[in-house]
Amino acid sequence: MNFIAQRKQMVQIQLIDRGIKSERVLAAFSALARHEFVAVELINSAYEDCPLPIGAGQTISQPYMAALMTELLELKGNETVLELGTGSGYQTAILAALAKQVHTIERITHLSARAQAKFKLLGINNIQAHEGDGTLGLAQFQPYDAIIATAAAPQVPMPLIEQLKDNGKLIIPVGNRGFQTLTLIEKKNNQIFKTEKCGCVFVPLIGEKGWQSDDY
Ligand code: SAM
Repeated sequence: MNFIAQRKQMVQIQLIDRGIKSERVLAAFSALARHEFVAVELINSAYEDCPLPIGAGQTISQPYMAALMTELLELKGNETVLELGTGSGYQTAILAALAKQVHTIERITHLSARAQAKFKLLGINNIQAHEGDGTLGLAQFQPYDAIIATAAAPQVPMPLIEQLKDNGKLIIPVGNRGFQTLTLIEKKNNQIFKTEKCGCVFVPLIGEKGWQSDDY
């Protein structure tokens, strides 16, 4: 089954009707098979309007939230992007369709390994996957044109701001463990501008500059 009709409906009802406008972003969500990134037993739910479990207590984000975050980065195709939280690899693959190079970092070994196998299977070759603590960024490939955190932090980790290029954009959910604000950070002439976009609920970004694993 190729789920073309479900994907078309997802793009229309969940993305376009809710205000996602970027043609490039809509084309990427129309083209990418989301059902490839969920477990077989959830395949019929792959295009539903919600996050889905991917194991280890983690989730593949709701399509709308993934699209909104992607749109806010305003990728043109030439960028080097850093993603924190590879998870299923779905958001990573969307970014790879819209940017030149994507570095993605995941703290859970088997999620990273599974996503990497999926990128290979789908023939996506502009993603470099890393394992580790994304709250520290990824210093060896900085600076980044865009940074996206797909898990929530109590505050914006300073290494991410430092590793962002001038004129770069960083999108990250910031707040407490139960509720956050999707926050856009822009660096212009080395000054930092912060815009709060909307409320959201994400799993925690666990690491040195994020939550400690036993924080509540
Ligand atoms: N983008 C993912 C997708 O499309 O499936 C959604 C990922 S899920 C909402 C958030 C991910 O962030 C989880 O896989 C989690 O293990 C990961 N994570 C949490 N803290 C992290 C950290 N410090 N560094 C890297 N990954 C982290």
